Amino acid sequence: KNYFPLNMSELRQRKTLHIEAQQQDSDPIEEGPHAVPIIVAGPDHSFQLDEDALKKVLLRDEIKDRYVVVISVAGAFRHGKSFLLDFFLRYMNSKYVHKQNSSEWMGSDQAPLDGFSWRGGSERDTTGILMWSEVFLTELATGEKVAILLLDTQGTWDSKSTVKECATIFALSTMISSVQIYNLSTNIQEDDLQHLQLFTEYGRLALADSGKTPFQRLQFLVRDWRFPYEANYGAVGGSQILEKRLEVNDHQHSELQSLRKHIRSCFSEIACFLMPHPGIRVATSPTFDGRLAEIDQEFKDNLKVLVPMILSPENLVLKKINGEKVKVRDFVQYCKSYMQIYEGNELPEPKSMLVATAEANNLAAVADAKDVYVQLMEDVCGGAKPYLKTETMEVEHKRVKDKAIEQFEKKKKMGGDEFSAVYKEQLEKDIEDTFFQFKSHNESKNIFKSARTPAVFFALAIA
Ligand code: GDP
Ligand code: MG
Repeated sequence: KNYFPLNMSELRQRKTLHIEAQQQDSDPIEEGPHAVPIIVAGPDHSFQLDEDALKKVLLRDEIKDRYVVVISVAGAFRHGKSFLLDFFLRYMNSKYVHKQNSSEWMGSDQAPLDGFSWRGGSERDTTGILMWSEVFLTELATGEKVAILLLDTQGTWDSKSTVKECATIFALSTMISSVQIYNLSTNIQEDDLQHLQLFTEYGRLALADSGKTPFQRLQFLVRDWRFPYEANYGAVGGSQILEKRLEVNDHQHSELQSLRKHIRSCFSEIACFLMPHPGIRVATSPTFDGRLAEIDQEFKDNLKVLVPMILSPENLVLKKINGEKVKVRDFVQYCKSYMQIYEGNELPEPKSMLVATAEANNLAAVADAKDVYVQLMEDVCGGAKPYLKTETMEVEHKRVKDKAIEQFEKKKKMGGDEFSAVYKEQLEKDIEDTFFQFKSHNESKNIFKSARTPAVFFALAIA
């Protein structure tokens, strides 16, 4: 079955088809590191991407061309997600900012825990996705330079109107992350698995289209696990529980049976970790400020295992789409494409998720190919190069354009050839527009021609 719209005018109407200049002024973030709302809920329960905020964080020269690792924590409200993320921040700061190799990353006993805000009290946080403004940079053993993004999600599942909101936030954060930490209280329940239904359906379509595993790591994290005598805290106990929950039996609803059968093929890795209760001060004290001194030792011991399991360089998981690693600037494109399908009032159909993915995937290939064109042309006629004859320009343009088109065609893309043809056409048009700019710039270097214009003549006359 072909789900992709092949009608050009229909495709062109999609808002994202237009490729914008992706360069952003890199004015440094002057405020200290903080949480940036990137996806926010409006009063009518629809969502919006704050594209400017996202670009401000991501489209910096030292970041935008790196491969991206996206770590998200999702799940119901008030179960310690932001609290956990603040320990992630401590690890990242120690390991990737201060480049310390010590096990002392957790910090001192009396220091309050800060970062993502985790003590709402009774005040209601708004639903949405937050990104940490500091992007952590490192290099993998393979030599690949990567950027690590942290996402916090917020939402309540408490009323009918907000269930769709939460499902949307869960779905979006799963689509855009390479590691989704599914934070659950006390156990993995039937309902918790049900929220994964959309992904297995989408995953099956994506698999059929490309043969590639659509998602990377799904990490269940059970908080306040109370049965260590049944399954021990940590990853081993976690995998015992997970195996049990993913067993198929006849008492289950057929949808849940099917989910269990297919979920493994949609994620390249599924794991589970059981966390002990952090202690009474953490759970109930109104004056608790996150200091280690007041957290149970067993919780801290398990944090010391869990956090490096997710964040140490050898455990980082690159975001891949269609089997290809995603760069930071492509990530921005994916967010835009995905956002469009969540704008309506219903959860999207798996097939529209597939189309959005294919769209972003093709747009990333367009951006790459355009880069090739611009870079090669810079070598030919960039700012410091001398004026070239028009015929030479034309010849070079044709040569370089062919290279760029070849680059686009070489790249594995979703949606098939007909679908990609629209994007190829867009690329050609973009390249012609860019050539026009190169040409005018080249002309301005022609002093003989310029000298004939009165302004320059005047300038020369008074010199
Ligand atoms: P979020 O809404 O999921 O982000 O939850 P928060 O991180 O804001 O934490 C909500 C409350 O749960 C805070 O008062 C924390 O002190 C407390 N908390 C953090 N971790 C745990 C945990 O593992 N178990 C329990 N019972 N409470 C926790
Ligand atoms: Mg929170």
